[in-house]
Amino acid sequence: MNKLLALGIGVTTYVTGTLILNITATIIGCESKQIYSQESLEETIAEELPNYYHKKNVKLIPIFNKPMDYDVYGTSRKIDERTFEISALNRAAVRHELEHIFDGHMDRGNLKERKGIQKPLGYLLYQLYYEPKASLHALGIRI
Ligand SMILES: [Zn+2]
Repeated sequence: MNKLLALGIGVTTYVTGTLILNITATIIGCESKQIYSQESLEETIAEELPNYYHKKNVKLIPIFNKPMDYDVYGTSRKIDERTFEISALNRAAVRHELEHIFDGHMDRGNLKERKGIQKPLGYLLYQLYYEPKASLHALGIRI
């Protein structure tokens, strides 16, 4: 998802102009409590989880340090129907990834693993709806 996010910024800019690019820039510039260890990641997820648990029962696997390779603050990945990996470098990124997970943005599978028409459709939906929704949610805005 890290790579997809970077690619998505370009695609989104091309398709819709500045709106979503601005949302992304806001998230990147957002002041948010930093996550500096595996324990800190697990703690932050535990603090945010009560806002989501009523929606769906999933198993989360927190992995600290994973987003470091790319220029993003968080990532999540579906392992099976109930299990998701989640990595984040600050609280806003935790909220962003939890929104992806609990709002069903990966119900049809991880974007980069999709085949055929599901791949471009997935990218489009991701950039025009899922990503802005998760980004706004990270700032505390519900749509
Ligand atoms: Zn995202």
